[in-house]
Amino acid sequence: MNQLLIEQIDALLPQTQCGKCGFPGCRPYAEAIAAGRADINQCPPGDQEGIRKLAQLLGVPSKPLNTSHGFPRPGKVVARIDEQLCIGCTFCTRVCPVDAIVGAGKQMHTVIAAECTGCELCIAPCPMDCISLIPAAEKTGDIRQKQAADSARSRYQFRLQRLAREKQISPKAPKSKAIAQPKITPTAAEERKRAIVQAALKRAMAIRAQADNNRLPVK
Ligand code: SF4
Ligand code: SF4
Ligand code: SF4
Repeated sequence: MNQLLIEQIDALLPQTQCGKCGFPGCRPYAEAIAAGRADINQCPPGDQEGIRKLAQLLGVPSKPLNTSHGFPRPGKVVARIDEQLCIGCTFCTRVCPVDAIVGAGKQMHTVIAAECTGCELCIAPCPMDCISLIPAAEKTGDIRQKQAADSARSRYQFRLQRLAREKQISPKAPKSKAIAQPKITPTAAEERKRAIVQAALKRAMAIRAQADNNRLPVK
C-alpha cells in the first residue's frame, strides 16, 4: 500500500474516530480510500470542506457528502456524564476510541472534555442514559484544530496499541475471536443490563430516602 498517500489522506480527516464512514476509525478509512475501496464523501464530520480537500489531493472532482453515512453537526460537541446517575459499569470506557473517559469499575466516571472528539460512541452503551452531548469550547483557528486532530490521532493509535498489548499479555486473552470470545446472546446482554440498572435504582432509592429523611423537620 502507498503509505505516503495514506498519511496524506489521514492528515485531511478530522480524527473524530466515530466510524460513520463505515470504517473503525479515520486511519482505516484513509487506507480504504488509498486502495480505492471507499469514496471520498463518506465522512460527515469532515463535511464538504473535507471532501474538497480530499478531491484536491487525489486530483478527482469533488462531490456532495453521502448522507447515508450521517449529517455533519453544526458545532463541535463533547460528552458529559451525569455523575449522580453513573453506576460505574465501564461500558462507556470500553468503546471510547480515544480513551477520553476515566473511572474505575463501580466508581463514578468522567469525560476529559479536552480529549473528547464528540464521536457519540459512548452514548448508546450506557445503561443509565446518563451521557449527553454538550457544546464544546470551540477550537478556532487552523493551528488549534490541527493540534486537536493530532492529539486525537495519537490517543486513537495509543489505544489500539494498548488493546493489542493487553490481549497479548493477558493469560485469558482470546487466541482468536472465533474461538475464545464468549458469545453474548441478546438475552444474556439484556439480563446483565437489567441487573446493573436494578442495582443502580436500589442505590438511587436509598440515597433519595436518606435525603428525604434529612429534609424532615426537626421536632
Ligand atoms: S471522522 Fe468518523 S467518519 Fe470521518 S473518517 Fe474519521 S471515523 Fe470516519
Ligand atoms: S467520551 Fe464519548 S463522545 Fe467523547 S470521544 Fe469518548 S466515546 Fe466519543
Ligand atoms: S456507561 Fe454510563 S453508567 Fe456506565 S460507567 Fe459509563 S457513564 Fe457510568
